[in-house]
Amino acid sequence: MTTNTNQPTRIFLKDYKAPSFKVQSIDLFFNLHEKETQVKAKQSIEKLEETPLVLNGEGLKLLSIRIDGIELSAADYFVTEDSLTVRTAPDYFTLETIVEINPEENKSCAGLYLSNGIFATQCEAEGFRNITYFLDRPDVMTSYTVSIEADKKKYPVLLSNGDLISKKQIGNGRHLAVWRDPFKKPSYLFALVAGDLGVVEGSFITKSGKEVKLEVYASHGKQDRCFHALLSLQKAMKWDEERFGLEYDLNQYMIVSIDDFNMGAMENKGLNIFNSRLVLADPESATDNDFMRIESVVAHEYFHNWTGNRVTCRNWFELSLKEGLTVFRDQEFSSDLHSRAVERIKNVDALRARQFAEDAGPNAHPVRPESCLAVDNFYTATIYEKGAEVIRMMYTIVGKDGFRKGMDNYFKEYDGKAVTILDFAKSIAEPNNVDFTQFKLWYSQSGTPEVNVTENYNADNKEYSLTLKQFCKPTEKEPSKEAFHIPLLIGLLDPTGNDYKLNSKDIAYNSDGKALISLKKEEETYLFTDISDKPVLSLNREFSSPIKLHWNATQAELLHIIKFDKDSFNRREACFKMILQELRSLIADYHSKKELRPNPEIIEAIGYILLDKKIDAQFKSLMLQIPGDDFIAQEEDILDAKAFQAANHSITIAFVQKYESAILELYHAHHKLDSIGDRALKNHLLFYLVEANHPSSISIAFEQFSAAKSMTDKINAIVALCHTDSEERQKALHEFLNRWKEDAVVFNKWLQVQASSRITKTFDIVKKITTTPPFNPENPNNIYSLHSVIGRNHFVMQREKEKTYAWFCDEIIRIDKINPQVAARLCSCFNFVKKFPDEIKEIAQKEIGRVLAEPNLSKNSRELLEGCI
Ligand SMILES: [Zn+2]
Repeated sequence: MTTNTNQPTRIFLKDYKAPSFKVQSIDLFFNLHEKETQVKAKQSIEKLEETPLVLNGEGLKLLSIRIDGIELSAADYFVTEDSLTVRTAPDYFTLETIVEINPEENKSCAGLYLSNGIFATQCEAEGFRNITYFLDRPDVMTSYTVSIEADKKKYPVLLSNGDLISKKQIGNGRHLAVWRDPFKKPSYLFALVAGDLGVVEGSFITKSGKEVKLEVYASHGKQDRCFHALLSLQKAMKWDEERFGLEYDLNQYMIVSIDDFNMGAMENKGLNIFNSRLVLADPESATDNDFMRIESVVAHEYFHNWTGNRVTCRNWFELSLKEGLTVFRDQEFSSDLHSRAVERIKNVDALRARQFAEDAGPNAHPVRPESCLAVDNFYTATIYEKGAEVIRMMYTIVGKDGFRKGMDNYFKEYDGKAVTILDFAKSIAEPNNVDFTQFKLWYSQSGTPEVNVTENYNADNKEYSLTLKQFCKPTEKEPSKEAFHIPLLIGLLDPTGNDYKLNSKDIAYNSDGKALISLKKEEETYLFTDISDKPVLSLNREFSSPIKLHWNATQAELLHIIKFDKDSFNRREACFKMILQELRSLIADYHSKKELRPNPEIIEAIGYILLDKKIDAQFKSLMLQIPGDDFIAQEEDILDAKAFQAANHSITIAFVQKYESAILELYHAHHKLDSIGDRALKNHLLFYLVEANHPSSISIAFEQFSAAKSMTDKINAIVALCHTDSEERQKALHEFLNRWKEDAVVFNKWLQVQASSRITKTFDIVKKITTTPPFNPENPNNIYSLHSVIGRNHFVMQREKEKTYAWFCDEIIRIDKINPQVAARLCSCFNFVKKFPDEIKEIAQKEIGRVLAEPNLSKNSRELLEGCI
């Protein structure tokens, strides 16, 4: 197990130095035992410069070390807590080491560990050093041959990367499998699985006619829930061939589902390891969102085979090279398969809730960070989601065809190499003849740029001018920021709702024919001629840039967009903006102790959307959404959850009172239908009813719960009931637990719904759950579902501040000792702490200080909490 007793040191991007040794190949031999696993490693190494050989290694017991067959003497090498140094090495040599590790005791879910009797590995980012001594850095790529020996009865399935070379009995009830990966790869992509697992098999014929064997492994009895993942994999393989011309390179592709896993899933070459919640699905156990999420994550990990594995990152500061690009690719995949508008809205909602918040908080960092304490802390919304937005902006600038040309160029140039984000930008720019010099600031500057809009219409000469002014709030590390290159898709709506033809020298059209303006200076004015009436501006269509747009639109302008804009994103954005403005004015009233009376015009506008039969159900459910706390908190100076809730409640009550019969009628109409959209809208209306304490809401929710055949309907009914303190709530939770308590995946839903509830008892209930089985206080999924959810439930946390923050910080301390990566995730619940009302902030920060005073606190948690006080 990894401990972090030494004082953490900060590492810097600017200190990058190419490796001094090249590893030609590595042969690994695992003699698997639960408590004492031996790992033999035989590496062929070439010295590139005269220097001692320093290998990474943590928590390893070194049993033997030889160079070219000769055991080294104590004077030839030394071992520290995290390294092995060979003082002098020949130019070419074979290094053989034998180490012993204890997988059973390893609770960190990094390196080699046991999860419910299954040996599994997680090596990204730096887990391989917990397995053997190696140059554990992504720019050391080599070819692997892996032999695994284990008890045959307990571990009939033995898997590693690449192709299976042989498998045989070797006596003593043990067996041996040998795997070879023909592609050179960095150590973070190494994987091993051994266990008694069920499997579902399929195949895929690549465009060049090769048959690839596909296998999805899971615990016995769960095979029926693996078909969706298998189907998703086949779709992803086909899509990547069609859209990017990328074909799979090995003969076999395996996915293994594991219950104890820190991340969502891991793209190890040919052998993906997944958190079971992102593999297992059938309609009884998984929601519509789960199905979509599984499809997109299976695709994401598959797409890494090219963007990440074949071309990898030079070091971890370049993590967004593979993650930003692969998130962009999985978003495009989902958009091509489903509704592009809905996908875009959901992705942007997630970006603004998580990444914008991160960028405005104490742990803001650029997409390509300059320094860090713990590499594990790089797995952030900024690296992933903002990284994907940066790729999307490039895509918007050059268009679909231009982007494909750039991608082809990227693989031609860098296949088999470890490269940087700037190499990628160059690959896209070159064949498209664009200059990304200024654009690259998106990689080096943190923070969300904000753009102010000023409009001027001259009716006499029919000219419309648009002035945009950009700024980005300074941060401690970046006191002043340079102007960004902000590409903005634009339309101007005429009075009938159609787009004006744009006459302007300032407009560029990308290869898709979309109208684009580029804001590059701090302030720029764009002139449009032949505009016969004052237009309504539709700017940043498709959310082409990840910015905050300050545009003082009138109610009439927003309604015009809601009704007519051909850009679906902006239609929904106008609703969101309208409701947000109203929420903020109600929050102000709340603080000045006024009675909360929502503007009837806003309620009518929401009603207009509700009643519009032309809007499809799924899109309507998004248009009717009320912005959540994390979103409002970014606009407000103070995160006063009680005030937010009061504002939300008053809008909901006014809306339900006015449109009661229409809401009920629509609920029942969609309840009879059976598509994803129908379920989304119906369940959204159910929340409105519950939130407004409508007299029949509890019985409707309970009826839905009792009759539901799908998990979507069941869980949404419970979510609704959980906001009530009713007998029905108790009954539903009890029944749900009885049905699913043995199921490691579905049990998490039971935790989430209770941790997200606003009722008075929530904190006591959550606290009690943590000490009652089947809750497993060491399982990452259980902790994410309970602790991370209540940690972001500001309404409950702030209401019972004296108890909640002390408990939450005790839990961080407890979890940090067994699994620092999971503890660090909990720390991010304090992203907004500096915006809490003074009295609450004081309490929370005192508790954070207590965590920071822990002598053995991991660098993961320390790095994230330091900025919070
Ligand atoms: Zn990824």
